[in-house]
Amino acid sequence: MAAETTSAARRPVRWIAPPTGWSRAIAAGISTRQGGVSRQALAELNLGARTGDHPEHLRVNLARLAAATGVPLAGSARARLEHGVRICVVREPGETPTGDGLLTDRPELPLTLTVADCVPLFLALSGRAVALIHCGWRGVAGGIVAAGVQAITAFTGTAAEEIDAWIGPSIGPCCHWLPAEDAASLPAAARLGERPADGLRATWRIDLPGAAVAQLTAAGLTPERIQATRLCTACHAKLFFSHRRDRGTTGRMLAWIMRRAP
Ligand SMILES: [Zn+2]
Repeated sequence: MAAETTSAARRPVRWIAPPTGWSRAIAAGISTRQGGVSRQALAELNLGARTGDHPEHLRVNLARLAAATGVPLAGSARARLEHGVRICVVREPGETPTGDGLLTDRPELPLTLTVADCVPLFLALSGRAVALIHCGWRGVAGGIVAAGVQAITAFTGTAAEEIDAWIGPSIGPCCHWLPAEDAASLPAAARLGERPADGLRATWRIDLPGAAVAQLTAAGLTPERIQATRLCTACHAKLFFSHRRDRGTTGRMLAWIMRRAP
């Protein structure tokens, strides 16, 4: 296969692991853009099926990520994103009906979704259930963080204080601005300050990961059990695809979470 002979193809797959302290019973992570065979704007490790990439590139990239992480990602339950607040309980591999959150109690079934700026939120109730939530600004405004916590507590009958949360890399407040009319729908914790209108329209600096932390705390999680990897996807062009930085023409990282078999 020609793609395998490029120099980029020989770079090792690089992925981001959860912070220290994360339960060993739970496999989780998010890919970077390094170590795959996709080309040009999708180089290298694109994992977004709806980016126009060659299917063989996507297959090779996913196989490489699975080999690097030891997680059977080809057999995952995948979210078909809609920028809403729906959480789907899944027990089988394959793409779900639309929904921005996945929840399962099945061991060895990876949950996956793709991101390129939005916040990937990993929730784990050790030994019981895991959830993976896609938090764009519309989802955060609509309450998807609380919906995810509510879904996992209702499903397991366990209190929110026992949930571990990891907020993965996403666009940071350094690079994220929204028009005032969109920013108004977000919780106060997401709005860091207004930039004066320059004759056109006012914009607000947005802190989506900060909003997720505030919403997790408000939903009853213990602050010590909330961890965040504060790496901005738009700032780090060698590491991450970024929908905003690349003006929509870009690849996708893959986030996953899985209960390991006891
Ligand atoms: Zn940034």
